[in-house]
Amino acid sequence: MIVFKSINKLNKEVNFKADTGFVPTMGALHRGHISLIKRAKKESSKVIVSIFVNPSQFNKTNDFNKYPRNINKDLIILKKLKVDFVLIPSVKDIFKKKKNMKVKISNKDKVLCAKYRPGHFEGVLGVINQFLKIIKSKRIYLGEKDFQQIYLIKKFIKNKFKIKICACKTIRQKNFLPLSSRNNLLRKSEINKASLISKQINKFYFLIKKDFKNKDKILHFKKILDKINLNIEYFEVRNKNTLSIKYNKKNFKLFIAFYINKIRLIDNV
Ligand code: AMP
Repeated sequence: MIVFKSINKLNKEVNFKADTGFVPTMGALHRGHISLIKRAKKESSKVIVSIFVNPSQFNKTNDFNKYPRNINKDLIILKKLKVDFVLIPSVKDIFKKKKNMKVKISNKDKVLCAKYRPGHFEGVLGVINQFLKIIKSKRIYLGEKDFQQIYLIKKFIKNKFKIKICACKTIRQKNFLPLSSRNNLLRKSEINKASLISKQINKFYFLIKKDFKNKDKILHFKKILDKINLNIEYFEVRNKNTLSIKYNKKNFKLFIAFYINKIRLIDNV
């Protein structure tokens, strides 16, 4: 496993002609990330993983500062998984080419997280743009836990980069809570509360599916969630292909973002 601390060095030393799979992460690796890496290993002859906590995708400095980081432990995990290359660039390195970081998203796409975290996805896409100019991989592995992220990256790379998006299923704990680096910031009781929400929205999904005509149900569900004494940012039903509010029984998906003790969590089913 070769670890690169700069994108220039990686660019100079690695020939990406091989059939490479790329897994971008922000580190503090867990079973969710590992599932992406394992799939990449299975499907590619070389695998590259990046670890970069991108300041431009955080709306609050405190959130960025508090974000869990554990590079040493991450490197042990990556070595065990027999990853070929790891890229851990500095913030300065990534922001050197400012032009690559300037990415816009359309007003039409400013829904869900893009509505409540202005500039977040522009930050994500800026870094992806920067990475893909150097990392000429065949496939990029992304988790459905960040469903809107996949949707926007797909849109962004179309006609721009020759790379296939491999969407990977959300990995959950036994209590149905999706694995997330942010879970490290929660106490046991808060984890229980968060898992209750994920279980609830999963239940709502099947109830809506069963009685699709009764659309008022979602309002009723919102009231149930309110009773859990949560700070819900959004809870919406949308079309999983377009993220619009025109959905049907086959293509709908539930999306939620909420805060527990100032920690922002998301889920979708
Ligand atoms: P992050 O480090 O949170 O930026 O995540 C890096 C990649 O791992 C993203 O594509 C995420 O969607 C994916 N990911 C994070 N959590 C999970 C999970 N629980 N299951 C599957 N993929 C995940």
